[in-house]
Amino acid sequence: MPAKGDLDPSTVADPNGKRNRKTNILCEPQMDVPEGHILLSGDLEHDSIVNGPGLRAVLWTQGCRQRCPGCQNPETWTETEAGALVTIDKVKEELRALKGQSGITYCGGEPLLQAKALLEITKFCHEELGWNVWSFTGLIYEQIPRDSDAWKLVEELDALIDGPFIMSQRDLTLKFRGSRNQRILHLDHGKIVSEE
Ligand code: SF4
Repeated sequence: MPAKGDLDPSTVADPNGKRNRKTNILCEPQMDVPEGHILLSGDLEHDSIVNGPGLRAVLWTQGCRQRCPGCQNPETWTETEAGALVTIDKVKEELRALKGQSGITYCGGEPLLQAKALLEITKFCHEELGWNVWSFTGLIYEQIPRDSDAWKLVEELDALIDGPFIMSQRDLTLKFRGSRNQRILHLDHGKIVSEE
């Protein structure tokens, strides 16, 4: 979890269960992308060993509202001016053509901003390719609204690496993540089964 001093107090969950405005805008409303499409910030990668276990495909999504100081991919922040709009069918076709991968990781940008498209891709990866599916998010797991499209995606993931990049907690020795506040959460239907 982020150190107390690094968190904006307005992002802390309301103990009365009310929806948190600042947290919500990080994933709601979802990005305005045409049905059946996804906005990507880069080409599909494969054979990656730095974004999760085994050889993995990596899908880079466009759009992020988090604005972390020190972000390495600020060009991914805009939701309309950059990125490549591609059909989900095209993504599936490219994934199907890959050989020797054991999983896929969603990077960004903020993947949870395009949760509907990624939910479809996740189900495809599970059911047709037999891959495990990980995603990064700048949100904190506990603060993702449970009635959102973002949460529906989380419930399908095998692991979520959560939390914003925090420069004061940067650690180059960490596996698969950039700052110490970020956690690798192994999930089963959205429930945390273990944590690294
Ligand atoms: S969540 Fe990730 S992409 Fe978004 S600003 Fe932070 S480091 Fe950059």
